[in-house]
Amino acid sequence: MLHLDDEILIGYAEERFDHGPEIKSHIETCSSCGNKVRDWSDLILLLKSAPTDSAPADAIWKCIALYRPHIRSVVSNDRTILIT
Ligand SMILES: [Zn+2]
Repeated sequence: MLHLDDEILIGYAEERFDHGPEIKSHIETCSSCGNKVRDWSDLILLLKSAPTDSAPADAIWKCIALYRPHIRSVVSNDRTILIT
């Protein structure tokens, strides 16, 4: 089974665009994509509720896990900076 791209799942989680019935149907019937949308929704909610200068450690680690394939380097000083 083909799954939806992360970009589509994130957009769905953010309600950023008008998704078609096929995308909605896939997310409702595919446990893998449905779980990813829930993970993204949880992360988005967590980030919206936290000040940007002090993101909770679990939110940072979720971001790292989600973006790991796209991360080129991590710079650590007094802050952690992710370069995607
Ligand atoms: Zn799927």
